[in-house]
Amino acid sequence: MERRVALITGGAKGIGKAIAKKFAKNGYDLILNYVSDKTDLDGIQNEFKEYGVEVLLEKADVSNYEQCENMVKAAIEKFGRIDTLINNAGVTKDNLLMRMKEEDFDKVISINLKGTFNMTKLVTPYMMKKREGRIVSISSVVGVVGNAGQSNYAASKAGIIGFTKSVAKELASRNILANCVAPGFIATDMTSVLSDKVKESINAQIPLKRMGTADEIANAVYFLGGEENTYITGQTLNIDGGMI
Ligand code: NAP
Repeated sequence: MERRVALITGGAKGIGKAIAKKFAKNGYDLILNYVSDKTDLDGIQNEFKEYGVEVLLEKADVSNYEQCENMVKAAIEKFGRIDTLINNAGVTKDNLLMRMKEEDFDKVISINLKGTFNMTKLVTPYMMKKREGRIVSISSVVGVVGNAGQSNYAASKAGIIGFTKSVAKELASRNILANCVAPGFIATDMTSVLSDKVKESINAQIPLKRMGTADEIANAVYFLGGEENTYITGQTLNIDGGMI
């Protein structure tokens, strides 16, 4: 039997890597996208060897349509199919609106939101041909409830939710299911920059009294993006320890 294939943007670290491992454990071949020159490519290949699946590492900036196009072409050349797309790549450039620079607004929108558009548009024709596909995009609770100092990030993550609800309606007739997960505060590089004092005040607002782990996000992403999900589409699942 042919193995199923998942493409994960920003799949070489943090939440993306935890998602990649979950799919690998379940026998999926992987296309792991990264953008940073510092990415330890040999280390990642070695880490995934134990799962016995094939891993294609693809450098591409998701905000650049042409680079996304080349990545999807390379993935199809190698595996001939993409069953699941995970739009995980994301950045923050936080500041209060009064101090936010135009380029910081544009950058966050173009990576988080336009990157999700680029990849979804490029991958869905292959899913449409197979009349099957799953897309899971990583939003954020900040996109659901807003957050002072993150208007650019919140706009990008709320945009992903509206985009997903729309494509879920467009693609349902082809059996392509599109959903979001909205993590709360998760312990990764993105949150490691916060001071201990800020982390303490965050934990105090979370009913479960701690940040989540990347694996806790990966479990839910696999639930929505794996083959057992056959009837959930257009949804956003908050994974936030009860915060919102
Ligand atoms: P992270 O450790 O900072 O990882 C971000 C990932 O995005 C990295 O793999 C990075 O690739 C990739 N990336 C950044 N810019 C890119 C670009 N232009 N093209 C392709 N890839 C790019 O953050 P994380 O916490 O794992 O976040 C993963 C996702 O979860 C993001 O969408 C984030 O907004 C969302 N999220 C995180 C939290 C949290 O508390 N951590 C909460 C809610 C939502 P490189 O490694 O190559 O740089």
